[in-house]
Amino acid sequence: MSDTSILKVAVNVPLSTAFDYRPLAGTPLPEPGARVLVPFGRRQQVGLVLEHADSSEIPLEKLRRCSQLLDARPLLSANDLWLIRFTSDYYHHPIGEVAATALPALLRHGKALHPKVEMVAITSAAATADFESLRRRAPKQAELLELLVDAGDGGMDADLLTETLPNWRRVAKALREKGLLSGFESRAPDYDERIVAEKAADHELNAGQSDALKSLRTSDAFAAFLLDGVTGSGKTEVYLHRMRDVIDRGLQVLVLVPEIGLTPQLVDRLRARLGIEPVLLHSGLSDIARLSAWRAARSGAARLIVGTRSAIFTPLPNAGLIIVDEEHDHSFKQQEGLRYSARDLAIAKAKHLDIPIILGSATPTLEMLQHCRNGGYQHLLLPTRAGDAQPPQVRLIDTIRTPATDGVSEPLGAAIEKHLNAGGQALIFLNRRGFAPTLICNGCGHIAGCQRCDSRLTVHANSKLLRCHHCGATRPLTDTCDECGENVKPLGEGTERLEESLTARFPGHTIKRIDSDSTQRKGSMHAALQSATRGDADILVGTQMLSKGHHFPNLTLVGIVNADQGLFGTDFRSSERMAQSIVQVAGRSGREHRAGEVLIQTAFPDNAFWKTLIDGGYRQISDEALAEREITRWPPYTRLALLRSAATRHADAHRFLDVARRFLANDSSDALRILGPVDAPMARKAGRYRAQLLLQSSDRSTLHHVLRRLRPLLENDATARKVRWSIDVDPIELF
Ligand code: ADP
Ligand code: ZN
Repeated sequence: MSDTSILKVAVNVPLSTAFDYRPLAGTPLPEPGARVLVPFGRRQQVGLVLEHADSSEIPLEKLRRCSQLLDARPLLSANDLWLIRFTSDYYHHPIGEVAATALPALLRHGKALHPKVEMVAITSAAATADFESLRRRAPKQAELLELLVDAGDGGMDADLLTETLPNWRRVAKALREKGLLSGFESRAPDYDERIVAEKAADHELNAGQSDALKSLRTSDAFAAFLLDGVTGSGKTEVYLHRMRDVIDRGLQVLVLVPEIGLTPQLVDRLRARLGIEPVLLHSGLSDIARLSAWRAARSGAARLIVGTRSAIFTPLPNAGLIIVDEEHDHSFKQQEGLRYSARDLAIAKAKHLDIPIILGSATPTLEMLQHCRNGGYQHLLLPTRAGDAQPPQVRLIDTIRTPATDGVSEPLGAAIEKHLNAGGQALIFLNRRGFAPTLICNGCGHIAGCQRCDSRLTVHANSKLLRCHHCGATRPLTDTCDECGENVKPLGEGTERLEESLTARFPGHTIKRIDSDSTQRKGSMHAALQSATRGDADILVGTQMLSKGHHFPNLTLVGIVNADQGLFGTDFRSSERMAQSIVQVAGRSGREHRAGEVLIQTAFPDNAFWKTLIDGGYRQISDEALAEREITRWPPYTRLALLRSAATRHADAHRFLDVARRFLANDSSDALRILGPVDAPMARKAGRYRAQLLLQSSDRSTLHHVLRRLRPLLENDATARKVRWSIDVDPIELF
């Protein structure tokens, strides 16, 4: 009887449970995967029906009814619901918040799957318009009109128009008055896969690539492949061949890329080689564009979907393959709210859907390497660069013997000059934006600090500000010390200072800085990368942002300004991280015909890390790191979960974790180690004191078992009201 049926509904609130509701009287029972509007407290909330039940712990007469059915047919399939449930279980995160993460914003807020959209189109009068004279008199109007003529009778989505011609509305007014243009509302159109001409021919694969492809072709069912190929070895080339197999069978391919990996370069390459327009899902999309991309994937019509982290939740009814490019990249892990790893969910999803997954990297994480050793994943190696590109020559510069003034030592300066004279491009890498990381007083030695964090303020000379990189606080940059009134000076260097000193040193050359400060405007990052690729700049100065995945054809020299930050890191992942970062940025050099060179400035040239990296490469660093982790019992040989808390009072942050600790003490066993509570490495951030409790276990099930019992206890504990807290399963940052 539908009347006694109970709906288990996920509601976007920070509580672990699903909530029970009765369906609307006299309407069909909403199926799992459909959205409903439900009364929650005194408000109406969008909820997702997870399943039907025939009983509830709450007496039937007290159960509230849904107030509205939002989807006549389920929005999500059983597979999609499975992933939501899995994510909630694995990360011990409230299911309603997981469901909210999984849905595009408009759907999360209750909008229709096919919302009405504003459309703009030409009228029949436009057919006889005099384009020639319009072009002369009002070129802007002509441009808009031509765009709309190309779009045909159906017209163009106003949102899309704004992306192409930001000021089109002003122009449209004049055209409307001339009777050439009309606006109307329309149901968002269904997706049509746009086929384009394949413009580029395939490379003939080299032996390594062919072997890798042959292995990849052995399975259309679940199998995990680690494509471990040095930078420029042609991994993308291998993906392309395998993708084509799957797309030709009419199936869908999902490619997950890092936050800034979704560049025009990659999209152009996919389009040119596969002959279809990829559907893109990334954080830069408008809500409506995101929804239409999501809908295209959900309908099964889009066969090529390329997206960043959250694209993992996109429904794929005809999935045939998942690729995670640059598997090691940290942007796959969300660091707030639902702290999921899109890479790990991708593996789980591939397994559930019984399709293959390819994880690619030049610097694979120890987790993936360990899976290969276990025999769980297949390890495919591409040890050499593709085509006639050679591996770059790597050399250290001792900054004690040859000090670096304003960041650049004499040997690095000379090398830049040499490469520029030979017509090459140089990339100078420094993972620190701003002018200088510290402002110090000449008189009393006082260092400008953030009032809300345990951190120093970074000097930003261009904007004349002191800025905290942890909480975003700013204050005006002054010449004198707050404490004693003497003059202050910036100490150390960031990318701004480096740009300045290179400009002074290489007059007549173009220098371009690329970091998150220089690329804040929408689209400016893409423009900067494109210009860098064209070779417009002789010297590129930048942070991590420049080091990932890019292919700058002319780049022959990479200079790493300060490589020592990671040498003495306290995190057990320090050396893995540092090796990844150096190998990735070094890998931008010499990717085509001309040989590349990499110079690394360090004050510790005798540190064993360098010898290992230069002689044995990432392979040896990772082998050694794995051996060490096995002895010290860190991941991947153990599993971690981190319980974090933050409060305006130090004692509250700790008291909350003490509750957890006491509860866990009963569970304490050989299989579970509890470390803490301790202050977080940065104990105060944005005005809150932060503390953490680390749980470590040799097996996953023990850890999950205790977290499952811990979570509801913490949700209901009185101390929780004074803190912000979170559970981070498989944390990648231990703070
Ligand atoms: P990765 O993804 O490993 O960094 P790419 O697939 O981007 O490598 O390849 C690096 C460069 O080598 C690209 O310019 C690509 O066109 C070229 N390339 C790849 N495979 C071959 C091949 N078999 N023969 C010649 N050039 C190749
Ligand atoms: Zn701060």
